[in-house]
Amino acid sequence: MLETTVTEENLNPFKIAQRQIEKAASLLQLPEEVVEILKQPKRVLSVTFPVKMDNGKVKVFEGYRSQHNDAVGPTKGGIRFHPDVTLDEVKALSMWMSFKCGVVGLPYGGGKGGVICDPREMSKGELERVSRAFMEAIHEIVGPEKDIPAPDVYTTPQIMGWMMDTYSRLRGHNSPGVITGKPLIIGGSKGRNEATARGCVFAIQDALHDMGKATEGATVAIQGFGNAGRIAARLLAELGCNIVAVSDSRGAIYDPEGLDLAKVERLKDHSNILEYGDSHIIPANQLLELDVDILVPAALENVITSHNASQIKASIIAEAANGPTTPEADAILFEKGVKVIPDILANAGGVTVSYFEWVQNLMNYYWSEEEVNGKLKVAMSDAYRAVQSLATRYKTDLRTAAYMISLERISKAMEARGWV
Ligand code: GLU
Repeated sequence: MLETTVTEENLNPFKIAQRQIEKAASLLQLPEEVVEILKQPKRVLSVTFPVKMDNGKVKVFEGYRSQHNDAVGPTKGGIRFHPDVTLDEVKALSMWMSFKCGVVGLPYGGGKGGVICDPREMSKGELERVSRAFMEAIHEIVGPEKDIPAPDVYTTPQIMGWMMDTYSRLRGHNSPGVITGKPLIIGGSKGRNEATARGCVFAIQDALHDMGKATEGATVAIQGFGNAGRIAARLLAELGCNIVAVSDSRGAIYDPEGLDLAKVERLKDHSNILEYGDSHIIPANQLLELDVDILVPAALENVITSHNASQIKASIIAEAANGPTTPEADAILFEKGVKVIPDILANAGGVTVSYFEWVQNLMNYYWSEEEVNGKLKVAMSDAYRAVQSLATRYKTDLRTAAYMISLERISKAMEARGWV
């Protein structure tokens, strides 16, 4: 069969993840069988489940859990609640989790879950019933030694709490280690809520330092104002960066002099960030092309493509989101000399502190916030240095170098187990 030429970009995240694996595997000259194993998730569970809604009607929801590879350890990764969730997206996200855990050297493989639903249109009671029903539907394949979920897009510590409770009831004993990102009172870790953003900020600081640029006064545009984007904005502002633009699913605001973050946060909580002022509203896609030092995509996949990559003016892109940049855009940005800190490194702080949470749950002994943040800093800086020096050695981009580090770890584990 003829290969189709890539004239139009393929935006299927699963296909993109496979291409990223192939690129790094060929630099490492990995055996074909290793690549074949890694190009597919090991197990995918697709479920439908009924939930009684507030209006008395029953609605049937659809969800997935994908477990990519467990050669290194149990699979790990969040559960996303979003109307646009697809099976291929969840599969790709589980693959990215394997490589993310590999970059920071966590003893986990990758997993991911998703439920097609819109929490913005659900009551708290409906959200609880969907969360508990989804956990009930997948409980046989998850567990502290099997597969450990966590928060992701539009899922929260409260949702993790409900899911942990449902799992524990089904098993007949308390099982905090089944899920991370829980509320503190039932076994959550200090620092977990801020960890994705904090890790991303550590990576940005390392990149700025590498490029001989100052943190103080650096201008930043952030796409997405959820857990990662919002806290990254706050932490970067604390370091003296100037947050000039932010957006959420409703639109984007921009002030070249710098936004008043406290005001943006107030609007986010109580009304709509677009009420910041009419003169500050910009078209959402324009945020990515602003003349800033640092661009932080912190929302969803495929926002930087061959269509806008050449317009990007930032010198650093820190991917707080998973999969925001397509391979075609990566090539353009590399050519332009933009430093793209890839998702599997830039947002690895979340799963790193999830790992700390799981360790604390298994020991039943809890750490101070200083201890958690200190360990996170070491993990992120070590990972950044390893990725940067491999990229320099192979004259390649940071994403490919990060994949190479992970692929090597995972393939060694598969070899040690006798899979290949
Ligand atoms: N959902 C987050 C991610 O994409 C966190 C995963 C976790 O903590 O297991 O990395």
